[in-house]
Amino acid sequence: MITATIALHPPASVGVEWETDKPLAGLTSIKIGGPADYFATVTHPHQLLRLVRWARSVELPYLILGGGSNVLISDAGVRGLVIHNRCRAIRIDPAPCCVFPLDERPFLYAESGALLAGAARTSINAGLAGLEWAVSVPGTVGGAVINNAGAHAGEVKDSLWDVMLLDESGDVEIVRAGELGYCYRHSRLKRGQIVQGGFGPVVLSANFRLAPGDGEDIRARAQGFLEHRRRTQPVEPSLGSTFTNPPGDYAGWLIDAAGLRGKRIGGIEVSRTHANFLINPTGVGGASAADVLALMGLIQENVYQRFGVQLQPEIQRVGEWG
Ligand SMILES: Cc1cc2nc3c(=O)[nH]c(=O)nc-3n(C[C@H](O)[C@H](O)[C@H](O)COP(=O)(O)OP(=O)(O)OC[C@H]3O[C@@H](n4cnc5c(N)ncnc54)[C@H](O)[C@@H]3O)c2cc1C
Repeated sequence: MITATIALHPPASVGVEWETDKPLAGLTSIKIGGPADYFATVTHPHQLLRLVRWARSVELPYLILGGGSNVLISDAGVRGLVIHNRCRAIRIDPAPCCVFPLDERPFLYAESGALLAGAARTSINAGLAGLEWAVSVPGTVGGAVINNAGAHAGEVKDSLWDVMLLDESGDVEIVRAGELGYCYRHSRLKRGQIVQGGFGPVVLSANFRLAPGDGEDIRARAQGFLEHRRRTQPVEPSLGSTFTNPPGDYAGWLIDAAGLRGKRIGGIEVSRTHANFLINPTGVGGASAADVLALMGLIQENVYQRFGVQLQPEIQRVGEWG
């Protein structure tokens, strides 16, 4: 096990701020999680590239943290290095002032730490259709590419063209979306339901292919999605949907029908607004990852007993679990 007592520090040429024993709860949307042994924030893909290559060279396992909106970080925290990805650049190529010939649809380029909702807003403001479903989805482009994030009948795979990856052998490669093995909330880049630091591939940037459309129409659709979310989802800290929807059914409906709306363990509660959301009403320090896990187990048991359906977690458990 790697501990923060081993004095490791990347060389100045990597160009990052370096911290040890960094609390992570505040960097997640549910406000839960223990510390990272080592922690660095990157703001440019070259920094990200250099840092990952250095970590590999000293055999320091790393984990990329995007918006922290799909990860339950354990109370014991993460052994190794957590890289907080804040590479945020977004641009439209060619520039939106051009008239696009039909066979030359524009691309939206985003660095992997850019907010997905920010990429959606950029496309909407440019009158481009294809990403408006993402206007209210938290997290980064990198996390969305990994998870095949989706909402309102749209998914990353529908408009993703290609991604730039740092692959497992340390090379940078461009991979077309069709090669990423996409299906419901999954890609071949996703590393399973429990994830520790490792030496896996890193998404550096992504290109989405969009379509010129009626600007007012696109804006109105996005507005409708935002309003729908405000009406149907809780505002308290959460990780969004806890379980994936079983084929032909809705996890939230099953949890509700099992009588679990409002059920509480420790500081964590089944939301009364949307039963597939587990909320942490009091924020940092109010609840533990163990509370979330216990409530998830209770939900799975009750739903299985009542309906014979085995709910599968959509959220990922990260770090050191006993
Ligand atoms: C209120 C709320 C609503 C939500 N609604 C939706 C929804 O409608 N649809 C939906 O699909 N999801 C939804 N989610 C879940 C979440 O927003 C998505 O899963 C999102 O794509 C996660 O992105 P992230 O940057 O936060 O990833 P993180 O949680 O930071 O990381 C997720 C995983 O991806 C890995 N990762 C992240 N970036 C990279 C990278 N650059 N390279 C390699 N690996 C990387 C991490 O190591 C981790 O394993 C919701 C969450 C919340 C809190």
